[in-house]
Amino acid sequence: MHTKVTPTKDKYLPTIGLEVHIELRTNTKMFCDSLNKPTDAHPNIHICPICMGHPGTLPTINKKAIECVFMVGKALRGNISDYSLFDRKNYFYPDIPKGYQISQYERPLVMGGVLRQVHIRRIHLEEDTARLIHDEEMGGSSLVDFNRAGIPLMELVTEPDITSGEEARKFAEELQLILRYLGVSDADMEHGQMRVEANISLGNFMENNIFGTKVEVKNLNSFRSVERAINFEILRQGDLLRRGESIVQETRGWDEDKQITFPQREKEEAHDYRYLPEPDLPPIVFFSNPDEISLPELPDERRDYLAREFGIKPEQIEILVVKKYLGDFLKKVSDVLEKDSLELAVNYLTSDLAGLVKRGGGISEEVKISPTNFAELIRLIKKERISSRVAKDVLSIMFNENKDPREIVKNLEVEQQNDEEITKKFVKLILEENPLVVEDFKKGKANAIQFLVGETMKKSKGKLNPEMLKKCLQDELS
Ligand code: ADP
Ligand code: MG
Repeated sequence: MHTKVTPTKDKYLPTIGLEVHIELRTNTKMFCDSLNKPTDAHPNIHICPICMGHPGTLPTINKKAIECVFMVGKALRGNISDYSLFDRKNYFYPDIPKGYQISQYERPLVMGGVLRQVHIRRIHLEEDTARLIHDEEMGGSSLVDFNRAGIPLMELVTEPDITSGEEARKFAEELQLILRYLGVSDADMEHGQMRVEANISLGNFMENNIFGTKVEVKNLNSFRSVERAINFEILRQGDLLRRGESIVQETRGWDEDKQITFPQREKEEAHDYRYLPEPDLPPIVFFSNPDEISLPELPDERRDYLAREFGIKPEQIEILVVKKYLGDFLKKVSDVLEKDSLELAVNYLTSDLAGLVKRGGGISEEVKISPTNFAELIRLIKKERISSRVAKDVLSIMFNENKDPREIVKNLEVEQQNDEEITKKFVKLILEENPLVVEDFKKGKANAIQFLVGETMKKSKGKLNPEMLKKCLQDELS
């Protein structure tokens, strides 16, 4: 869709801060023992009087959720609070029938921290709300699904340190990766397990006015929309300011179809929520030393390990870090494969094999090939027993039935033909069959040779050694 904003370099500088909500992967909900299992198929099955918000019920704290937040806090080098409190955030909306959301206000679980040079202000814990489904078919009425109500929701608030849509996207992507490595959430944006809200303002540095009026953008369901919505707001606000108009402090939504933001509501202030201490829950007192919180390997440690151990190129490292299961697989392959073949293994891992494993939400997809069989395939390629074209086919067969590649090559009769005499025979046959193409070539049509290579390869069912084939063809034609 087209918009009327025009980009120009000028005195307005963007300032961006993010608020990120993350559903934690616990067995049960935040304050009751209903299962933490949102499902679209059956609404209102993982519910109980507590997460339905019935009066007179008592919440209890899910310890696992607190531990998850502490892990995130430590991974982001924040301060783990030794004394933390829950508060009631009061507002009236059908997604929370008890009239308030249990959240944290002045004493969050974690204060401070940093990720990719963006400072973290705080990380706190709250309960997710019910999901409203607006049903046009039912005359525009709304349905409420409580499966999501009470799921532990971690909120991370950054300082306004970000200056572009791209930076914000990269921050969010790295955060997702860390959450997955920590195992605290799948953090899938498409499934609403990670929800990003972006605050954007333009400062006027000529007038020494660094922070302008900020606008908050919601409904960002992918990394791409985080980047695009922010960039759109920067242009929209800049355009208004240059025309001498002022920015309205408001919450805007992101229209994915039109690729624009639109006004949703004027922003409420913290005092509108009348935060009050939650009287039904005790304070969270953290007695241990934060050093005792143990963390699994984090993405940066994995990057260092891959660079140090295998000397892999940065682009390939990123593939192996994001698709952690491929990095894990490489570790196992390296135990059984000769060192001088590792580079070749990495190439196949990061291209062909990466393409075969369908990517779900997580970092632990299944690689349905044994490391020994994969190592054997790499040896066959290295020793030129099969061509790279055949290798692709063998790999996809291995992926469906984890067999020894030598057996597959034998059954398919696709072992590479490295015999020069046999290659010549194929070449002669093709030249006889294509006299016109040969004539073209002799008249100077250089790319005719590509056609002949292709035809000869086809005739040999991909078995010829491509280098040898090219050489034979050139010899015959000259
Ligand atoms: P509010 O009280 O309106 O919720 P906060 O101070 O709590 O505002 O900040 C919410 C988010 O907005 C934070 O991520 C913060 O970094 C960001 N933010 C604050 N001021 C600005 C600004 N001028 N421009 C952009 N983002 C900002
Ligand atoms: Mg706020």
